[in-house]
Amino acid sequence: MHPETRLVHVHAPVPASTPLSVPLYQTSSFAFDDPGPLADGLHRPDGSYVYSRFANPTVRALEETVADIEGGVAAIATGSGMGAISTVLHGLLRTGDHVIAQHTLYGGTLATLRDLSDRFGIDVTYVTGHDPEEVREAITPRTRILYLETVANPTGHVSDLPNLAPVARAAGITTIVDSTFATPILCRPIEHGADIVIHSVTKFLGGHSDVTGGIAVFADDERYRTVWGHGVEFGSVADPFAAWLTIRGLQTLALRMARHEENVTRIAGFLSGHPAVERVLWTGAADHPSHAIARTFVRGFAAPFCFDLAGGYDAGLRFQQGVRLVRLAPSLGGTQTLVLHPASSSHRQLDEKQLREASISPGTIRIAVGIEHPEDLIADLDQALSGS
Ligand SMILES: *Cc1c(COP(=O)(O)O)cnc(C)c1O
Repeated sequence: MHPETRLVHVHAPVPASTPLSVPLYQTSSFAFDDPGPLADGLHRPDGSYVYSRFANPTVRALEETVADIEGGVAAIATGSGMGAISTVLHGLLRTGDHVIAQHTLYGGTLATLRDLSDRFGIDVTYVTGHDPEEVREAITPRTRILYLETVANPTGHVSDLPNLAPVARAAGITTIVDSTFATPILCRPIEHGADIVIHSVTKFLGGHSDVTGGIAVFADDERYRTVWGHGVEFGSVADPFAAWLTIRGLQTLALRMARHEENVTRIAGFLSGHPAVERVLWTGAADHPSHAIARTFVRGFAAPFCFDLAGGYDAGLRFQQGVRLVRLAPSLGGTQTLVLHPASSSHRQLDEKQLREASISPGTIRIAVGIEHPEDLIADLDQALSGS
């Protein structure tokens, strides 16, 4: 069946009948009549429910749904996207190991890799992600992980997963893909060679800006069990209520993504033709540097994108103060359209050279397009641009 159907039909059976929606098991512990199954649940992910740091039925319903949609064997839901990233990296790496990573990654991921390198002696080599030969040359006998993102922030850069993953697999290296910006509706990285797929559930999967969460999906049972054991120690588990809200959000994921993409296409087109806008950097545009690679394995482009205001830094400041319907806020993937002026907010501490290295110019605006009516969004952007 199609993702639209599978996302809606999530069940948590009880004897003789099935609740139509997934119950919220807001409980830390489970009681037993005899001790056998209790001990069992503390030693493997598929034993009895014992204690919610190990497993919880509501969290499990979320994990099984996302694992199914991504084409994985199992998933681990966590308290945030960073929780999933840290749990997977700490669960699979040890001192002396080596990681190959795409150079444009989420800021929190880059900070984690820096930390692993500085404090735990795990070296990282950064690559563009466009060239299998570059990955082959970076591999050492200690390389354990190739870390990529489907669509990266803020440039919309896409690594060539279908051609890089086989190079990693041939060398026994685990390929991890953060697919937060694509979602399983637009890309299923496991089909293209990924071993582990990570999402910040906080974004499109939750979809309503009311949940902080993460999830890691595994293509094989062995890595799943290794990371599960570590996650239990790390304590990075998802809370049942956050999982319950996410299951509710997931039911409309396919509908929301279609609307996000429709709106993004309209707004990218509007901005490209606007005299106050110097450049639009959207992966969906035929002239984007990653467009051709992306087309080989990503089905559509609904993710946040960037545009540069001709008026530079001051225009960026005026624009973010000028929007009315569109909100000034971090994050993405919710129902509301959000903008950010990185040079004066998220990247304020960088000088002009460092900004350039991060592909951000003084007049860059990031926009995460929501599911409102596109004409209302365009009207608001138009009035804000006229003042910038
Ligand atoms: C937001 C985000 C994260 C971190 O997720 P949190 O839920 O904020 O911890 C990781 N990767 C990407 C691509 C993100 O956008």
